[in-house]
Amino acid sequence: MATILELYRVDYWKYRAEGNANIVLQYIGPHSRFRNTVLRLRKADRLDDSKAGLEGTNFGVDTITMKNLTKESHFATEVIGLLLGQQFVEQLIAVALPPGFLSSLALAMEPSRPESRRQKGVDLAQSVGFLALDHTRFIKPSPGQSDIAVEIKPKWGFLTKSAFLRNDQDIKRRKCRFCMYQHQKIKTGQEGSLSKYCPIDLFSGTELMVQDALDSLVDTPQNNLRLFMDGIQHPVSRESMTQCLSEISTSTSSQTQEQQQKRKPQCIEGDDPLDYEENDSWPVRLTEVLTQILIESPLLKRLGRLQQALDSLDVETVHRLYTYLIEHDSAPLPEPSVEEFLKTAEAFMDRTDMDAMMAEDQEAFETHNAAGLGFEPEDDLEDLPESLKLHFIREFLLSATLKDCSILVTIQRDASAAVGVTTANTTSSSKLEVDAGSPEFHEACHRIKVKEEMFVYKITCIDLDPKKMTSVPMYVKKDRTIVGHYLATVGDREAACGAN
Ligand SMILES: [Zn+2]
Repeated sequence: MATILELYRVDYWKYRAEGNANIVLQYIGPHSRFRNTVLRLRKADRLDDSKAGLEGTNFGVDTITMKNLTKESHFATEVIGLLLGQQFVEQLIAVALPPGFLSSLALAMEPSRPESRRQKGVDLAQSVGFLALDHTRFIKPSPGQSDIAVEIKPKWGFLTKSAFLRNDQDIKRRKCRFCMYQHQKIKTGQEGSLSKYCPIDLFSGTELMVQDALDSLVDTPQNNLRLFMDGIQHPVSRESMTQCLSEISTSTSSQTQEQQQKRKPQCIEGDDPLDYEENDSWPVRLTEVLTQILIESPLLKRLGRLQQALDSLDVETVHRLYTYLIEHDSAPLPEPSVEEFLKTAEAFMDRTDMDAMMAEDQEAFETHNAAGLGFEPEDDLEDLPESLKLHFIREFLLSATLKDCSILVTIQRDASAAVGVTTANTTSSSKLEVDAGSPEFHEACHRIKVKEEMFVYKITCIDLDPKKMTSVPMYVKKDRTIVGHYLATVGDREAACGAN
């Protein structure tokens, strides 16, 4: 674990974004080697603030904290890295949080935080934070080029085909979790209107459907789409998504200004820029570039298939396994260690032919996946050995992590393309060392040609937190509520998700 003294000044950090579990701060201090880094801090319920200082009063880290620390940083890189591929998983470097620094930092960030997220605060009991690469930008700045980043929270990319599904939940074979959940969110006031987005389209791998899913995300982003330009978050709108690729960066050289000017369409005064959306003379749109990247990169397909394969039993069966174990042991189940999660992932990989999984069509994949389980719904699940019961609950928890992650796609116009030195489908990599002795950050950049224009991109999976065993009862309850509410209010009359 690193103690990097140059990081510990409150005015070196700026609020970036937050989810339910973590808050992310951006480095804005003077040290150039941190220019591309963010600090990730864990959040906790406000009540837990009373624990503040118990662990964070000194630089020393006790054994329990050290264990938790190992868990958080190694879970993403080792366990999820094994499943998704190391190259797609965010690297984290653990850094000590000195006394006083964390509480001052939390206080300073508070005014920038959105009201809707303030029921939780920075967990003041943590003595360790995580330094990560700022994936909204590239390590090496390219003069005159803006770094555009889009963060997509894709959610569940599959319709279950599980033979273990309860009859009264058959709707789950036709309507995806995201679309059904929207109705529940309207009921509880979490959202004011239904999202147009359906993950089944995004995960389809079919160009028109992927493009349609991205356009829907732009129209109704909710918390599933964020746009960043040069590391700064911008509101998502059709206009911002259309124009951001033709914006001139603040550091633009005169040569690239000329190039960019050439790309701009001949606007007629008074015209709505959106009128040019379908016009070939308008520069390529960001969603068009994203569509090609999401189809070219194996990440989204791999994510969707893993979500489904690791959730083969459906939450109802997983809950039954959980209940058997609880009743047998009459004690709460211990949370899996990173090693146990790793064993689960390894056992899953042993029974799964990953290359075949990626190459097969949907039907063949689902058939193979079901056959690989080694038991069927007719079998008495109570007879499964305890170790297998635990294994399948952990598989489900891994699936839950993958259903809740985000994908960051960072894009830049390829400046070298202007002088004709690059071709599509080439990759390069950059490194960043923030501290002697700490692991280096790496990024892999790929080139892609979209509508005769060259772009550089990188794609990374973030927010890969381990899910808890004790959440299984909550998962089953939530699932029943969502399905029940959907059937009661909408019923089974809409077209199936993904059916066009
Ligand atoms: Zn859907």
